[in-house]
Amino acid sequence: MDKTTRLIHHPYQPPEGYSAPQPGVFKASTIIFPSVAVLRERYKDEVGHQYTYGTKGTPTTFLLEERLCTLEGGNSCTLVPSGLAAIALVNLALLKSGDDILIPDNVYGPSKTLANAELANFGISHQVYDAMNPADLAAKISQKTKLVWLEAPGSVTLEFPNLPALVRICKAKNVLIAFDNTWGAGIAFNPFEQGVDISVHALTKYPSGGGDVLMGSVMTRDAALSSRIKHCHMRLGYSVGVNDIETVLRSLPSMAVRYAAHGAAAHELAMWCQQQSDIVQVLHPAIPGSPGHAHWQEVCTQGQSAGLFSIVLHGRLSSAQVDAFCDALNVFKLGFSWGGPMSLVVPYKVRQMRTLPLPEYLQHGHLVRFSIGLEAVEDLTADLAQAMQLAFKSFRISC
Ligand SMILES: *Cc1c(COP(=O)(O)O)cnc(C)c1O
Repeated sequence: MDKTTRLIHHPYQPPEGYSAPQPGVFKASTIIFPSVAVLRERYKDEVGHQYTYGTKGTPTTFLLEERLCTLEGGNSCTLVPSGLAAIALVNLALLKSGDDILIPDNVYGPSKTLANAELANFGISHQVYDAMNPADLAAKISQKTKLVWLEAPGSVTLEFPNLPALVRICKAKNVLIAFDNTWGAGIAFNPFEQGVDISVHALTKYPSGGGDVLMGSVMTRDAALSSRIKHCHMRLGYSVGVNDIETVLRSLPSMAVRYAAHGAAAHELAMWCQQQSDIVQVLHPAIPGSPGHAHWQEVCTQGQSAGLFSIVLHGRLSSAQVDAFCDALNVFKLGFSWGGPMSLVVPYKVRQMRTLPLPEYLQHGHLVRFSIGLEAVEDLTADLAQAMQLAFKSFRISC
């Protein structure tokens, strides 16, 4: 044998008697079959838990899928390359031309963009509903409605909807419910116990926890639904790199303590923000006075919340001052996404994100969203204070 061949065919046996907390990592595009008979057998059930080809998964893929199922009591989980890909997979697997879907107005933004572009091109229509008004959802469900998207709380504005009421409406009309549970991360509450059919996660956020991996998951309890999602996933070739899966497997054991730490720090900072005269509204579901606080209490019975909150800055401040405030922050970095150790800030133009008329608390002022990392809370408070002092000084003098 040539040495190049020997490098490829060098025999390898996993060490006998070897055991360690972290599972081994199995990488493959090609998977080797012991015989033609086995090859044919494995392809009889295309989406069964069988090793056929790397796009479907290796033992590492299946391990993370099974672990994620334990989080929410799912029966089947499918990994995809990002949280947005998880949303796209659900839509592509379940919808066809002529169908209509319902999307909350405060949904994760790119979900709406996808509906406006590709879904519309495929002949799938959508309507936007007010997640804080269950009657609006009920009024918009029609014979054509095949899927309702839910999210709790809303992205960026963090209103917590009346989840039990929204689910009851969908169930009464026999419409499938897909729930984006990125915020809850399978920790704050269990979406299947609320009655949803599909739970979608951006694993990019808390499950990864490092700000360095993009991944998503689609979880179901119903076998027929799972089969539709797995088949579509296979046909799209939405596979996930095994090194990224390894990173999430490494991070998952610490997710619950990280979630609690991010949540406690965000709550403390949000309370501090409520005392600041430049801030007219703090949007954080665990804070009394925030939209949907009572609904959060009803669903998140352990009192858990993610490390996110937004503030509405006084309408008399200029946009330039708000930008200057964000630029003046040092510990907080400007950037999208969340769930990592570093605190982040993004100013948003809410008016451009919404389709329906804005609720009163968003009509005036400027919205800034914070994602709280794992830094010491006093450093974050001091950073907010110095940036407000710097950017809003002239406003205070003129008041
Ligand atoms: C971040 C996020 C997504 C998208 O996840 P990516 O991995 O960044 O594509 C989807 N839904 C929600 C609620 C998110 O916060």
